[in-house]
Amino acid sequence: MEERKRLEEEPPGGKRRSPRAPIWRDVPDALWDDWRWQLTHRLNSVEQLKQIIRLTPEEEAGAAATHRFRMDITPYFASLIDPEDPNCPIRRQVIPTARELEPTPGLMADSLAEDQHSPVPGLVHRYPDRVLMLVTTQCASYCRFCTRSRIVGDPHANFGRRDYDRQIEYIARTPQIRDVLLSGGDPLILPQPILEDLLRRLREIPHVEIIRIGTRVPIFLPQRITDELVAMLRKYHPLWMNIHVNHPKELTPEVTEALAKLADAGIPLGSQTVLLAGVNDCPHIIRALVHELVKRRVRPYYLYQCDLVEGAGHFRTPVSKGLEIMEALRGHTSGYAIPTYVIDLPGGGGKVPVMPNYLLAMNERRVVLRNFEGFISTYEQPTDYTPHDPSRCEYCRNQRPEPGQRGIFGLLQGDAMTIAPEGFQAVHRRLQTGGTETMPLIIGEPLPVVNGEVL
Ligand SMILES: *Cc1c(COP(=O)(O)O)cnc(C)c1O
Repeated sequence: MEERKRLEEEPPGGKRRSPRAPIWRDVPDALWDDWRWQLTHRLNSVEQLKQIIRLTPEEEAGAAATHRFRMDITPYFASLIDPEDPNCPIRRQVIPTARELEPTPGLMADSLAEDQHSPVPGLVHRYPDRVLMLVTTQCASYCRFCTRSRIVGDPHANFGRRDYDRQIEYIARTPQIRDVLLSGGDPLILPQPILEDLLRRLREIPHVEIIRIGTRVPIFLPQRITDELVAMLRKYHPLWMNIHVNHPKELTPEVTEALAKLADAGIPLGSQTVLLAGVNDCPHIIRALVHELVKRRVRPYYLYQCDLVEGAGHFRTPVSKGLEIMEALRGHTSGYAIPTYVIDLPGGGGKVPVMPNYLLAMNERRVVLRNFEGFISTYEQPTDYTPHDPSRCEYCRNQRPEPGQRGIFGLLQGDAMTIAPEGFQAVHRRLQTGGTETMPLIIGEPLPVVNGEVL
């Protein structure tokens, strides 16, 4: 209680409520604090934006062309923008610029091949034991780097009752699914009875162990985290929540209060952060961010390399930037404050962790490692290790099936000797064929073509 009070009274901004842009100065607090008022007064035109910030010509061109990807900004979040600074990190996340319209080499509409992994509309089943369930295309505000801008924001392409029925039916008849991740769009934008109905129906499925919600509502619209909503959510435990924060300036007194309500309801909170050029591509910004998150009981979960999404090319950083940031975290701060840096593989390979190398050398006796300070040490391996005996282990005997997805772990378990590209055997049977077979150069999806050129 003491701690919460301290955070609410002395947040980074210094006041309990964030400042408002002058045009909303006279709105009564009761309206300002009402999420319905915030949603209905969102900014979505150049004229409205000009009332609160001085637009650059680039922004004006971008904001006038939002037919490609909708713009909507809650008054609360818009008020966090520095009206005079075109490089404001809050501003860069929600105000479009003309750069969104550039066709950027290598970028794709559905770079993660989510549509290919969907057994029913809106359900992405990529991993053996968990699914991503897209329940709406709507958000409180729209991130300009949205990984799903191909569907998000389009009010004519929303998910509804019929889709939910099919998604839930698929989950119910697929017993290997133990984790359901509600996303979209933003699930917390749904009317509360519809969201509750989804949670209730998922909870009725015996093999669904945990439910997760991925949401940016606590950041864009913290007013939505009402006592009533939280009381509903906590009925469906174990319920986890991942929020999405990219910059410490997003952690206002309002957000702090919303996160405290969620954490007090026993909802474990994680944060997914996207590494964004011009927003947070700096080890010191990320370090400040993760510290502010853990103060609010939010565990930094993933740091994402920005996806290859059409319209978001100007947000991408080299992967080396992410590695530099991870180097600045490990050892320098609490392990709890360190996210996993991941690249979501184009073509639908899923998230792959990337980190600096700490393992320098190894033989059967010793492992040589370096720490964050550059200190190098030796770990002596045991010489008398009694290997684990799977025949006496009930967990080995009761393994979950992962049909077709045992991968490298499967090789270690002796499922097979090799994993090889399609056509590999034919190409390497050169003695018999005289070397005439050729392995297809492109396996899987071809590289995207821009202006007639393969990139
Ligand atoms: C990110 C993601 C998940 C969840 O992955 P975790 O690593 O378990 O957080 C599940 N399905 C899809 C399709 C995803 O993109």
